[in-house]
Amino acid sequence: MEVIAAHAGIFQVEVLTAQNNADLLIEQSLQFKPNAVVIGNEGLYEKVFQALDRHDIKVYAGAGALASVVEMDTIDLVLTALVGYAGLWPTIKAIDAGKNIALANKETLVVAGELITSQARKKGVNIYPVDSEHSAIFQCLAGEFENPIEKIILTASGGPFRGKDHQFLQRVTKSQALKHPNWEMGAKVTIDSASLMNKGLEVIEAKWLFGLRNEQVEVVVHPESIIHSMVQFEDGSIKAQMGLPDMRLPIQYALSYPVRIKSAFPRLDFADYPSLTFEQPDLENFRNLGLAYDALKKGGNMPCVLNAANEIAVAEFLREKIGFLEMSDIVAACMDKIPFITSPSFEDYVNTDRETRIKALDIIN
Ligand code: MG
Repeated sequence: MEVIAAHAGIFQVEVLTAQNNADLLIEQSLQFKPNAVVIGNEGLYEKVFQALDRHDIKVYAGAGALASVVEMDTIDLVLTALVGYAGLWPTIKAIDAGKNIALANKETLVVAGELITSQARKKGVNIYPVDSEHSAIFQCLAGEFENPIEKIILTASGGPFRGKDHQFLQRVTKSQALKHPNWEMGAKVTIDSASLMNKGLEVIEAKWLFGLRNEQVEVVVHPESIIHSMVQFEDGSIKAQMGLPDMRLPIQYALSYPVRIKSAFPRLDFADYPSLTFEQPDLENFRNLGLAYDALKKGGNMPCVLNAANEIAVAEFLREKIGFLEMSDIVAACMDKIPFITSPSFEDYVNTDRETRIKALDIIN
């Protein structure tokens, strides 16, 4: 919303949605005057309606409304920033309606990457990455369309527990895990960053976004978070995209592509960063990254299992029902126990997601 407010002559908000944060939805709607809003939680409809109806803003509620509002003729681009699996259905509907997608919801591609990318191709729809690493790769690829990628290197900050041992990680608390050193994000992605699951999900996301083979996606830990990711081409040259960690830049690029718009974001000064460092991820203490690679290799509904088990594990960690390391145990157990489907349909994904959530809660209780 800050990016759009700074460039009101270029971008217009047609629809705004929220799940539970009715107050912010109302506040932003009064500022940006969208045509319509959707509040996901139907119990909050009356409140939003009372606040916005007299301002000539249409108000809808519920998951069904969310999935159909993206079809409106007046929409050019849909920024999908729902958390987790919930983003899948509205994203598919938006693609079917021929809308370009600015994708902040990585779980959509993790769960159903093949389905989403083939549907986007069929509909001639572009998917612009908002995830900072994928935006970096997308930016490195500008002007390189004829040049095959040898590999991509996703950078990871390593999160707040980089270098910590098993004993430490066993006792990590919720509030420790919610403090990310470089990025300010929502609770789910912050926990995923601390456990390296975020990087695992991003590996799968990258495979689908850029049409890569599994072995073409590498991860390197770069604690300063200045290089946002890199592409290595077939001549051995590596291009990197750099800047201060600030989500407004990848969001703006997804909205303005292929144009770069002048911004007032703080600039990187190398005097503040005399050294940029790199190390290998610790796969022994942070099992999630390895589990994500396993899911990617196995294919089929396995990434969907990984994602659903992780969503439950993170939610239960945030409720302080399980420990930090137990999150990986639950994901691994679900990957072991949920029936494998080689070529899942949309219904198979829905069923796999549901079964996995039940199984994960079973294991926890
Ligand atoms: Mg990211």
